Formats: sequence, C-alpha cells, structure tokens
Amino acid sequence: EGTAACGEKHRISRDDVVVGRILGEGFFGEVHDGVYKRERICVAIKTCKDCSAEVKEKFLSEAGLMKNLDHPHIVRLIGVIEVDPVWIVMELLEHGELGNYLVEEQYILTSATLILYCLQICKALAYLEGLNMVHRDIAVRNVLVASPECVKLGDFGLSRYVDEQEYYKASVSRLPIKWMAPESINFRRFTTASDVWMFGVCMWEIFSMAQQPFFWLENGQVINQLELGIRLPKPQQCPPTVYSLLTRCWAYEPPGRPSFGQLVCSLRYTLMYFFSS
Ligand code: ADP
Repeated sequence: EGTAACGEKHRISRDDVVVGRILGEGFFGEVHDGVYKRERICVAIKTCKDCSAEVKEKFLSEAGLMKNLDHPHIVRLIGVIEVDPVWIVMELLEHGELGNYLVEEQYILTSATLILYCLQICKALAYLEGLNMVHRDIAVRNVLVASPECVKLGDFGLSRYVDEQEYYKASVSRLPIKWMAPESINFRRFTTASDVWMFGVCMWEIFSMAQQPFFWLENGQVINQLELGIRLPKPQQCPPTVYSLLTRCWAYEPPGRPSFGQLVCSLRYTLMYFFSS
C-alpha cells in the first residue's frame, strides 16, 4: 500500500491549493493553512520535511486511513498530493487544538459545553468502534475545535499503523503513558477497551481545562499508582455524575469498562439534564 494509500478520489492537483501561513509543527513537518480553490474552502496542509520513501509511506498512511472515514466529528481529508513535495490536505479547524482552546476560554466555558465536547468525541469513537478501529492516542492535543459548539477528532497519526513492537521501539519517549490503560503500559495491548480508558483521561483533561493528567508523577510511577487502585481525582468543574462515568472507564479489567455506545447514551442523558435544569 503505502504511497498508493490514496486512491484516485483523493488525488488532488497542487494548482488547486493556495498555501498560507504556518499553523504549527507536526511530527513530519510544518502545517500550513490555505485554500482549496475547487471547493472554495479553507484547509490545513500537512507537509513532510525529510521525506524519504520510508518516511513518506508513514506520513501518507494517516491519510490512507482517514480517507475511509466519514463522520461529523472526525476531521475530513480533502486530498493528497503524492508527488514531491508530498502534501496532505484536510479541512481547516479554525480554533486549533482543544487543549489550547480550553486554556484560552476557561472562564467562559460552561459545564454543559464541556459535556457536549465529550459527547461529540465519544460519538466519533463509537463510530470507530463500529469499524473495529483502535485510535490509541485519545487526548485533547488530538482534538481540534471547529466552532465553540463543535469539536472533531483530528489526529490519526503514527500509533495505529505501525505494529505494536515497532510502535514501542520507535517512540518509547513519545508513548503517552499518563493516558494509557494498565494493559497498554504493561503489555502494549491496545483495544477498544483501552481506547475507552484513554477517553476517560481525555474527559478528565477537558474538565481540568487541559491540565496534564498525573502531572504530579513521573511516567515511571504511574502504573504503580494505577495498580494500587489510585485514579485521577475529580476536577473541580466536573459534575459528580460525569466523574462516576470517568471512574467506570478506569476499571482495571478491560471487560469492566463501558463501550463507546453506552457512553454516548450516558453522556446524552447527562447533557439533557444539564440543559433542562
Ligand atoms: P502531527 O500529528 O503530524 O504531529 P498535528 O496534527 O499535531 O501533526 O498538527 C500540528 C499542528 O497543526 C497542530 O498543533 C494544529 O495546531 C495544527 N493543525 C493540524 N491539523 C489541523 C487542522 N485540520 N485544522 C487546524 N489546525 C490544524
């Protein structure tokens, strides 16, 4: 597959893309904003700095996966330019990363809005669950903000394409230990149930306005605490009903955790309560 990751449908012409300013630095290279003239829409353009054949294959694998996804809360792939310099073009999410947005808007975001964000991310993950896809890196840094009422899952980066052994070797220092389920830390086992654990941590980040989970611990201390039954504490702004949902996501045994489908129902119900009271 690799460079053939994107079929005809997503092959676009460089002449149709206008490149703008730098939005940020991605794993592979700079990300720019721009315009896709054919559809007259604003886009984000991911570039690849040192794009050897091997790197290029990894870079394009994210697009190869995204092209099969179609969900209102997953960032849409517009297209790929496969000849050098290789570009991946996606819909632009104007407000950037959710983590930064939470810090900037912390004094105006209501609990209802925070629950809405959780529900939207959860719907995207329930969709992936239905496709038997495991995300492996659910965190506010990988969620982008389209508008004050809409967030989208925006990063299908490295973690899920490389096999587990390679993932482990390639990026020990990049492993998000503080977000990971015990079985992922201990055995590098990643499943939908470990995604549910990570989603619980991501909800904790949302209600903590993007504090780092376990910032008071070193990576190496986390698994010990988890095995003692210690969990992240209730963030001040987190309603008790939501916190009890988080703790269910953090059941030590994977089968003890709810599914994303069940979480969607619970979050929907909680949100209805918030809007009606
Ligand atoms: P990578 O996953 O390759 O490390 P990211 O997806 O984190 O790269 O992108 C790097 C930065 O570019 C992010 O911090 C984000 O601010 C910005 N960015 C990426 N994709 C988009 C997008 N679709 N809309 C707006 N900003 C984006």
